[in-house]
Amino acid sequence: MSRFFSERYSALTPYTPGEQPKSQKLVKLNTNESPYKPSPLAVEYAAKAAEDLQLYCDIGCTKLTEALAEKYGVGRENILFTNGSDEALNFAFMAFCDSDHPAVFPDITYGFYPVFAQLNGIPYQEIPLNADFTIDVDDYCGVNKTIFLANPNAPTGIALPPGDIETIIKSNPDSIVVVDEAYVDFGAESAVGLIDTYDNLLVTQTFSKSRSLAGGRLGMAIGNASLIQDLNTVKFSTNPYNVNSMTQAAGLGALMDDEYFRHNCAEIIKNRSYLIDELSILGFTATDSSTNFIFAKHPAIGGEELYLKLKDRGVLIRHFTIDRIRDFNRITVGTREQIDILLDNIRDILGGTYENR
Ligand code: PMP
Repeated sequence: MSRFFSERYSALTPYTPGEQPKSQKLVKLNTNESPYKPSPLAVEYAAKAAEDLQLYCDIGCTKLTEALAEKYGVGRENILFTNGSDEALNFAFMAFCDSDHPAVFPDITYGFYPVFAQLNGIPYQEIPLNADFTIDVDDYCGVNKTIFLANPNAPTGIALPPGDIETIIKSNPDSIVVVDEAYVDFGAESAVGLIDTYDNLLVTQTFSKSRSLAGGRLGMAIGNASLIQDLNTVKFSTNPYNVNSMTQAAGLGALMDDEYFRHNCAEIIKNRSYLIDELSILGFTATDSSTNFIFAKHPAIGGEELYLKLKDRGVLIRHFTIDRIRDFNRITVGTREQIDILLDNIRDILGGTYENR
């Protein structure tokens, strides 16, 4: 830390992203990216947009907004595009939380929430998940705080049953409920259909996972027009040109190639079942995932040990050092080939070291 660093941030512990090594040889199952390339239409549109990079981008993301509004059956005024959904989430912390409106979220959830709270000087409360990592809906009813819920949750992969989100929104009419749907396309139910009914609901989604555009950085917030207006006030006070022209174009291409999107989501769901089944044969238990990753543990090997041994062999998965989930690893659902390499290595590791335990 330099001697010039503002005291405001000196105690901040930044978010730790998963490793991003450059080696092509690694089997990379640690950051929940799509194993599939972006849609060819997304690539074509982005390349075309590159020809006009001397101009600033469209601050309203007009074409993208129109296309998404039509696809989701919402108004254009209900949508804000952002630089990844991380930016939408940070904007929501800035816009809807302060000392009178503290943030609340589960103890095991997306690790960026406490960082956004700290960054913005917002008090926050972490509510423990149940022992099986499910959310107790009653914990969030009538809390009168700004609620952040990843649905499905990360890194557990567990989705709330339909209706539970609505129960929480209904019971907190004077507080914002932010539903982070980064993984919703892999088998959970979206709350977008509720935005007309509840003016306290904000949904965030991303193009990073199901639409293969993690490197493009495209996310969105969807909610009541007045909430979107508030987020725009924050956006125009920080970075009006937050979504660059190539990303806007890529996003439009990805959105229009619905068949590609559906096909890839279906493949990932199929591969997820294969991965869970094969791991369970090896003695792992996994949570019930509605995402493009699984969260699993083995009785004979600790999470960190497995992570390190796989890393030595060129297979990257994600391990968290939080006590409650120390035994677990989060494994992104890759292609069938990637999964088979992972499984071969796990068989080898378990066979060699733990065969006769
Ligand atoms: N929410 C959750 C639960 C996530 O896991 C992620 C990905 N790290 C994000 C939001 C943000 O993703 P992005 O900024 O790429 O849209």
